[in-house]
Amino acid sequence: MSGHKYDVIVVGGGPGGLSAAVHLADKGLKVKVFEKKKLLGKPVRCGEYFPVKEEMARLLPRVKCIDIIDSPENAIDSKCKSIRLVSPRGHEFEFPFEAYILDRHVFETHLGDVARSNGADIDVGVQAHYYPDDEGGWVGPTRETADYGEIIVAADGYPSETAERAGLPEREYAGPYAVATNIEYFRSGSGAGCCRIVYGSEVLAGRLWLDNSEGTW
Ligand SMILES: Cc1cc2nc3c(=O)[nH]c(=O)nc-3n(C[C@H](O)[C@H](O)[C@H](O)COP(=O)(O)OP(=O)(O)OC[C@H]3O[C@@H](n4cnc5c(N)ncnc54)[C@H](O)[C@@H]3O)c2cc1C
Repeated sequence: MSGHKYDVIVVGGGPGGLSAAVHLADKGLKVKVFEKKKLLGKPVRCGEYFPVKEEMARLLPRVKCIDIIDSPENAIDSKCKSIRLVSPRGHEFEFPFEAYILDRHVFETHLGDVARSNGADIDVGVQAHYYPDDEGGWVGPTRETADYGEIIVAADGYPSETAERAGLPEREYAGPYAVATNIEYFRSGSGAGCCRIVYGSEVLAGRLWLDNSEGTW
């Protein structure tokens, strides 16, 4: 193992890992991010519903640094003004709730640019593995080419291989139903819409959201 030494190595360049890199690098720490995808935020494998800052502040009243979870204007694909909940029996209830539909590729590219401008190194297209040491550990595509980090951030999503290698009970959090999607999402459109969340009766808390940017329902 002959790689570089970092204060923090982040495994996973999704919104969580990139946000950590933005703020840790801004505090002057030497940070490295490994992301296995060739492009940050692409292909998109999840939804992009993102409450506006005021809603976030209302939902999370004890979070003091709510400003760190904001999105750049050019990543906003469309805006929703309300949520309509649909029960398993088809009853509907709508209430005001402002949110953006983000373009995750633009959003995560932006976070990556800010992290880099704060001094972080980001390697894309590299599937990295964690090799624990007494303190911190080594991270890289192979043990021989790994970099050393005093702190390792397991931001590689669920289930996190990094967390498992650190001995954390990662899979114990999974319920009887674990849903994964392997399709790519494409979004387009603009305008004030409503996000419809449809609850199923088979899977507890199973839900599907659809935004009505086009105003067709
Ligand atoms: C179907 C679906 C719909 C969702 N809809 C919404 C929504 O509308 N609004 C919302 O706010 N949230 C939504 N979420 C949740 C949201 O996607 C997650 O909360 C968010 O992506 C978590 O961010 P993260 O950075 O922690 O992990 P992830 O986004 O999972 O990022 C992990 C990153 O790590 C990378 N990675 C994994 N292993 C390695 C490795 N060994 N080496 C290098 N890189 C690695 C992956 O490629 C990935 O880029 C949805 C999730 C799903 C599955």
